[in-house]
Amino acid sequence: MFQGYLTPHQKCSHCELNFETLNADDGPAYIAMGLVCLFVVPFFFIAQVLYEPPFWLALVISLPLTLGIILGLLPLVKGAFMGALWKSRT
Ligand SMILES: [Zn+2]
Repeated sequence: MFQGYLTPHQKCSHCELNFETLNADDGPAYIAMGLVCLFVVPFFFIAQVLYEPPFWLALVISLPLTLGIILGLLPLVKGAFMGALWKSRT
């Protein structure tokens, strides 16, 4: 579906569906950030209460983990978002 990290092909290789009309804009980014905030932030609050890690350790663990989860989730969310856009038009 994607030719780069988030750049969709011009059309589907199977059914010739034109992907250029499915413009997702910033929607997938908002959804990915919302999902991460919903699940990751409470996890870190609980870890803070249970283990009380030093601030630098919490930063060293949480920043790359949060960034990695968002970047890993973004193509999946964009694909789902484009599918929802396509479904809402048909
Ligand atoms: Zn197709």
